Amino acid sequence: MPATKQVPAKSSKPAKPAKAASRLEDRLARLGLKSDMDLVLHLPMRYEDETEVVEIRQAGFMSGSPAQVEGVVTACDVQYRPRRQLVVTMEDASGPLMMRFLNFYGSQTKQFTVGNRIRARGEVRHGFFGPEMVHPNYKVVTEGAPLPDVLTPVYPAGEGVSQTSLRRAIAEAMARLDWQDTLPPAMLESLQLMPFEQAVRLLHNPPPDIDESALEDRSHPAWLRMKFDELLAQQLSLKRAQDARRAKGAVPLTVMGRLSDAFLAGLPFKLTGAQQRVLDEIRADLRASYPMQRLLQGDVGSGKTVVAALAATQAMDSGYQAALMAPTEILAEQHFRKIAAWMEPLGVKVAWLTGSLKKKEKQEAQALIESGEAQLVIGTHALIQDAVQFSRLGLVIVDEQHRFGVGQRLALRNKGKDGSVDDATVPHQLMMSATPIPRTLAMTYYADLEVSVIDELPPGRTPIVTRVIDQNRRDEVIARVHAAALEGRQVYWVCPLIEESEALQLQTATDTHATLTEALPDLNVGLVHGRMKPAEKQAVMESFIRADTQVLVATTVIEVGVDVPNASLMVIEHAERFGLSQLHQLRGRVGRGSAASVCVLLYQSPLGQVARQRLGTMRETTDGFEIARRDLEIRGPGEFLGARQSGQALLRFADLETDQWLVEEARNQAQRLLREDLATVAAHLARWLGSKEDYLRV
Ligand code: ADP
Ligand code: MG
Repeated sequence: MPATKQVPAKSSKPAKPAKAASRLEDRLARLGLKSDMDLVLHLPMRYEDETEVVEIRQAGFMSGSPAQVEGVVTACDVQYRPRRQLVVTMEDASGPLMMRFLNFYGSQTKQFTVGNRIRARGEVRHGFFGPEMVHPNYKVVTEGAPLPDVLTPVYPAGEGVSQTSLRRAIAEAMARLDWQDTLPPAMLESLQLMPFEQAVRLLHNPPPDIDESALEDRSHPAWLRMKFDELLAQQLSLKRAQDARRAKGAVPLTVMGRLSDAFLAGLPFKLTGAQQRVLDEIRADLRASYPMQRLLQGDVGSGKTVVAALAATQAMDSGYQAALMAPTEILAEQHFRKIAAWMEPLGVKVAWLTGSLKKKEKQEAQALIESGEAQLVIGTHALIQDAVQFSRLGLVIVDEQHRFGVGQRLALRNKGKDGSVDDATVPHQLMMSATPIPRTLAMTYYADLEVSVIDELPPGRTPIVTRVIDQNRRDEVIARVHAAALEGRQVYWVCPLIEESEALQLQTATDTHATLTEALPDLNVGLVHGRMKPAEKQAVMESFIRADTQVLVATTVIEVGVDVPNASLMVIEHAERFGLSQLHQLRGRVGRGSAASVCVLLYQSPLGQVARQRLGTMRETTDGFEIARRDLEIRGPGEFLGARQSGQALLRFADLETDQWLVEEARNQAQRLLREDLATVAAHLARWLGSKEDYLRV
């Protein structure tokens, strides 16, 4: 393959038929490559060195590393042992090389006509007949055909887009581009940054004398410039979103009166120091005349619900409604039950709204919400449907916020615009999560969130002991379940996650329920899963809460939020199939009372490397922050955030681990530019974000 040359816009190439061109355009668009700038910023993921040809004999000494050789074909056969394959022999003056192709087309044999000259690049191995390459990249060349004098870029590509067409499209885009640097020369100089055009051209066409390792590990100044630009755009955008939010109005919720006092007085426990501190932070925010956007982080069981309820009392005392949205029906229901029990004696009307309500119940709830009679509203996604209109929504609380998409959170916030609250104001927003976000991520993705952390558990909890046990010792585990139940304790038995098939997952849950019922004839074994009707689900949960049911077989529906303090043993089957944060969430269902709790992770051997790491982490620590940190290490930030969380905003070039210092630098510069140089801000954002900016605003 020839190295990319910079093809001028008016290249001599004949115009392609419109249809073919547009099809390539479509395929490029699917890769997100729509504008010239998109193409130009589509940078190589690695490079291949095709600038040199070595002798075949010498390549033979380079076993295990890639080499490029050139020779003349001496034989070409289709062989059938051990399986059908194309075997080509070629040689240069130093000796022969064997090439094997396990997948090949008939037409390929023509290219390997004896006497043809082939240039091949691949990893060299020692075969029975001397050096060989399996599936090398190759092309037919004429004698003396020039070698490329720069490294050959290899681009991230997708279905139907070849490296060759990508290279051509990128070269054409580069020829058309307006290369104006978005950063002023003085800034480049003071930060020692390479000019944009120089950096981009170098990355697409690295010169022969380049420091290859700096290119590969992305520490080359050209890469640093791209990373810096990317991080700067992100920081600018986040800062702007923050300013925009502050410029918006919100109703100041200034009254802490009767409800707040009565609620606190009625609590059967004292707030922990951490709860009190975050509550103070939230209360101060709620008094502001711009909308709060605060994330309340606290490990599972740290007592976020009480804090949320106290925030709600401040809204109600000030004459506004508060809404609490939870991601699952079980969780919403549990919040409703608990919070209604706290609030109704104080004379607060609490409305309950989920998708599964009967039409008439739904209408009744909606009427209560619309009239303002319901001061507090608790529910699932049903809260964000069009038919729901609030009277005076002052505070929105989203539990387990990472379970919701950006759009859903926005929709609930926008509910504040419906009622008598002035259109220019939005409600205050409190988000809660037990999945801690590591500092680097918070800095880059959640810069527009204030964060409060509950870093202390309520007193009297005993730490959960986690055991990792081979599946074939299941009988022992069942015996333990039995013993625990006889001591009056309750048990969760979590069924394996089967991602490929919900039906299969359900089947497994039903089977497990049947086996456990049989193995534990003197106990009540319940079953709860996502496909049950809400009323059935509720009946099962209530029986478990009353301790009529001792063992609850469950799918992952119990992952979030379920709170039954008497449950102190949890068994998770096929724990190797779960992610770290999911295991942590599940385990958080026990250890909520004063009894010493145990979590048994049953696994099926043999364990893969990643699964082993995960289970090891679970055994070693119950600290949610530590678990999140290791999760980030194992999975990388992209997966950690999930596509829905981050929108299109994931970093492409910068790496949060290695480029921490650049993040800090970009942050400082963003602050300075926003103060001093808005023209640069606008130019830089236009280049780097274009239409993607909206995602960063929520
Ligand atoms: P999470 O942060 O996981 O949502 P919850 O709000 O469900 O935790 O609280 C877990 C349990 O701890 C609940 O039973 C709650 O009533 C109890 N709890 C909360 N705060 C305290 C406290 N300060 N002292 C004692 N128990 C508390
Ligand atoms: Mg909770």
